[in-house]
Amino acid sequence: MDNCIFCNIDKSRILFETTEWVAVYDGYPVTPGHTLLIPKEHHETFFDLPDRLRESLSFRLNDVKKILDDKFHPTGYNIGTNCGDSAGQTVKHCHIHIIPRYDGDCENPRGGVRGVIPSKQQY
Ligand code: 5GP
Ligand code: ZN
Repeated sequence: MDNCIFCNIDKSRILFETTEWVAVYDGYPVTPGHTLLIPKEHHETFFDLPDRLRESLSFRLNDVKKILDDKFHPTGYNIGTNCGDSAGQTVKHCHIHIIPRYDGDCENPRGGVRGVIPSKQQY
């Protein structure tokens, strides 16, 4: 896919890679260390991944966490993947956001990923 930015990753941002996956720092990080875990094969969303990639993903998430723990010492994480326009996906090549969180990085973190709809974050 010549016109896909995640098929043509900027090598300088890579923090980890295997034969199937690459992890890069997000270009517009939400917090220090915000990372995208991206399959090297082009698949549009998480739900389009073949079983082999969905299975290896859980291990690669932990590999990335270990690197981020060592480098950034976060006190929590949000993990998420946007699937489709309605969910806010902007790059149509599957990627999982790994967002390190830090005590006090926002006024009230309660609800976390519920914040995809900001007015519903807290309950
Ligand atoms: P989405 O909205 O599709 O879930 O997320 C796309 C993510 O890609 C955003 O968090 C955005 O900051 C990040 N991004 C956009 N362009 C680039 C880029 O060229 N390089 C990197 N490393 N991240 C990018
Ligand atoms: Zn792609």
